[in-house]
Amino acid sequence: MDHERARSLFIEYRDEELAQELRFELEEHLRTCPDCRRDWEAYNETVTGVSALGRVKPPRDFVQKIERKIGRRSAGRFFGARNEFNLSFALVSFVLIVFFLLAYLFIASGREVRVIPRAGGGDTEAGPVTGGDTASGGPRREPSRLEEGGTEPR
Ligand SMILES: [Zn+2]
Repeated sequence: MDHERARSLFIEYRDEELAQELRFELEEHLRTCPDCRRDWEAYNETVTGVSALGRVKPPRDFVQKIERKIGRRSAGRFFGARNEFNLSFALVSFVLIVFFLLAYLFIASGREVRVIPRAGGGDTEAGPVTGGDTASGGPRREPSRLEEGGTEPR
């Protein structure tokens, strides 16, 4: 039996799964080969030591801590999805709120002429008028910029 063959049998030998003949051959080799004997003892001690440790229960937030750490170290490339989702969700809802607010102000400023005679609410008047101006003024400027840019290449 050569060294490689002997070492390949360590696992089965320790688990007592070797056929008797092979076991005798291996034991004979270990008796005559100090190198393999040293390796065998190292393997046996390591496996014995590991199994003596038993199972250790991880803390409850173990997985979450690991995910957070991985997220931090990978700069959010891994396990950073949750944070990205929160951020984009906040951004989208903010944009939606602003959009509906502007839409409301725009509609309110459009109705303004009809509403004033009926309700006569002086307090609600001031807000919609100024808001409507900025809302309608913003979008109108942008197309003109785009048109200028579009004419340049020609
Ligand atoms: Zn050997």
